[in-house]
Amino acid sequence: MQPPVPPAPGMPRDGADTLGLPEAEMRRLAHRVADLVVDRLVRRGDEPAIRADSPAALRERLGGPLPEHPGDADAAIDTLVAGALAFQQHGDHPRYFARVPGPSSFAAILGEWLGTGFNCIATSWAGGSGTATAELVALDWLRAFLGLAPGGEGILSSGGSIANLTALAAARDTVDPGGEGSVLLSDQVHASIPRALRLLGYPAARIRILPTDGALRLPADAVAATVAADPSVRIVVASAGTTNTGAVDPLADLAAICAPRGLWLHVDGAYGAVAASLPEEAERFRGLSSADSLVTDPHKWLFQPYDVGCTFVRRPGALLRTFAMAPEYLKDTAAAAGETGFGNLGPELTRRARGLKLWLTFRMHGAEAIRAAIRRGIDLAREAEEILRGDARRFEIVTPATLAIVTFALRGGDAAGHEAAVKRLSAEGFATFSTTSLRGRSVLRLCTLNPLTTPDDLRGTIERIAAG
Ligand SMILES: *Cc1c(COP(=O)(O)O)cnc(C)c1O
Repeated sequence: MQPPVPPAPGMPRDGADTLGLPEAEMRRLAHRVADLVVDRLVRRGDEPAIRADSPAALRERLGGPLPEHPGDADAAIDTLVAGALAFQQHGDHPRYFARVPGPSSFAAILGEWLGTGFNCIATSWAGGSGTATAELVALDWLRAFLGLAPGGEGILSSGGSIANLTALAAARDTVDPGGEGSVLLSDQVHASIPRALRLLGYPAARIRILPTDGALRLPADAVAATVAADPSVRIVVASAGTTNTGAVDPLADLAAICAPRGLWLHVDGAYGAVAASLPEEAERFRGLSSADSLVTDPHKWLFQPYDVGCTFVRRPGALLRTFAMAPEYLKDTAAAAGETGFGNLGPELTRRARGLKLWLTFRMHGAEAIRAAIRRGIDLAREAEEILRGDARRFEIVTPATLAIVTFALRGGDAAGHEAAVKRLSAEGFATFSTTSLRGRSVLRLCTLNPLTTPDDLRGTIERIAAG
């Protein structure tokens, strides 16, 4: 038997952490932090939905010279809470209606804490077979939840942007290995799609943008005509829930155009795809399971804290072929048959174990409760539309409630008036929402996917918008 390695001078190993915090202090601070988090969660509706301060004021609270000596832990935590955490958007606030909210569940927060506390790395099978399996199972459950066929590759990443980049890299390597083809997309795709294509080396001339139809959807007949006339098209990008209006492109029609020609159909469902879990929305998402790749963002409408995005790829081995590395210093971590090394399926090598929180959420709550929470967001958008229609003197609906988004305009309102309304409500702290632009027209937009939102929250917010 080897004698135990003696602790470094001045650093007892028993019950201490790497920088010498004693066990009792670790426990005390951990409980304090847990209480701070739960205290905030139960009072989240009382705080401003969004809050910012000037760079100078924030620096004043958090800055100063490099600390050379230990400081009081409680005071440091208090400073961080009051000086940093108070100044942000609270995507889980019941009146946070801007962009896409992030109403994280506590189950998922617990999963995140465990992964961080155990310092998990989900890269190689040898170094993280347990966390890899939790991620594989979470991906299987998510496939089943969305009604996708089992099998194929999947990987979690930081969010929709990296998930889209991951999918499009696999698409290019599979159907456009020379990188000389072109990509077809609509004028409503998320900005992360053209950015990913630029990063992958596609020049603007080979990113073909088609105008959407009256419902802001990619028209299948225009896609059919374009791919028939332009044999350089290799990839078609569709949206399953645009960020602007929630529109879902005609996925089944697009799949029927792409499949016989060997074109890769990528579907960006970062915001909306989770709604495919609802039987009453099935028709809207018909064809989703035929996508060659699909992205969804569990940190939006699947009640996960930031960050977690997800890529599914159906063509066998496409992710592994695109991302596998086998350098000499990773040889002893190589996966055998049946083992998955996620470091070879996407652009990150060292990566967080994002599957833990998703696994824990499904396991603790079950799909039925999660579906009900998603359904609530859709009902709330309809309710918001009703309230807005009830005040037709002041509001006009621009796009009716679709998934959990409704867009509208102030009668006689222009971009400046709309932006002023957002600024005013956000500054008051009562609620926050956002503007966007549809075919050059400025609109107001509510995204209502927090199941804690009440009809009173909607009414109060809409009344305050009208009062401007
Ligand atoms: C939010 C969103 C993205 C980007 O996702 P991030 O998690 O912010 O990187 C991509 N596509 C759509 C449709 C989105 O709504």
